[in-house]
Amino acid sequence: MFVPELPDVEGFRRVLAEHATGRPVQRVDVLDEGVLRGVTPRRFRERLRGCRFAEPRRHGKWLIVPTDGRPVLLAHFGMTGSLHWVPDGGEARHPHDRVVFVLPDGELRYRDMRKLQGLRLAADDEVEEALGGLGPDASTVSRAQLRDLLAGVRRQVKPALVDQSVLAGLGNLLADEILWRARIHPRRSCADLTPDDLARLHTAMREVLRRSVPTGRVPPRGSWLTGHRDERPGACPRCGTTLCHGRVGGRGTAWCPRCQPE
Ligand SMILES: [Zn+2]
Repeated sequence: MFVPELPDVEGFRRVLAEHATGRPVQRVDVLDEGVLRGVTPRRFRERLRGCRFAEPRRHGKWLIVPTDGRPVLLAHFGMTGSLHWVPDGGEARHPHDRVVFVLPDGELRYRDMRKLQGLRLAADDEVEEALGGLGPDASTVSRAQLRDLLAGVRRQVKPALVDQSVLAGLGNLLADEILWRARIHPRRSCADLTPDDLARLHTAMREVLRRSVPTGRVPPRGSWLTGHRDERPGACPRCGTTLCHGRVGGRGTAWCPRCQPE
């Protein structure tokens, strides 16, 4: 089980776009109302029954699904959420399927074990507010924007990168992978990053996202830090040094002490 980050949500967006967009939602089954936020099961079912999902978009870790004249569906996947398409006659419902959208030839299932986040509805003009003050999406941020977001900020760089109000979409795996590629220690202060550091950070972010998004996850490749962080301690795939593990900003963090000096 891994926590959904930008590439995972991009994968869920593709699932919805491919299988559910433009087709009528015949029924909505709320199997566990614990994932509904700010809306009753009855209202949720009634508002979406018969609607058609329009082209979904993503901002950070949020999936935003407009409908034809109904409220916008907002989905956040928390720590354990996912979205699955199951054609008619396919696998039985999973114990963690919480909400199921029944379409003409299959089901779109919102699955989540821990129910930390969930589904909500918003009017078109309430979407931005409902998302709660997100920073720009990490996949669209320019080098100059990233510099403006971080330069001079007296804060450790890793917690800043995973703060969704600064930059939306990065989670633990992406932040560690990006910092490792950029050769920046996760505890360095943003205020101490040189223009060169910030340029490398931006390049690393673009590259990691470019290669993660098509796979719908942060791939645990052998040449990536992510491919070794669970080996405990594991070795840096670039220089062979034993990796360090610790908590930075309250989160489990892996880094190479040689490639990423403090
Ligand atoms: Zn190294």
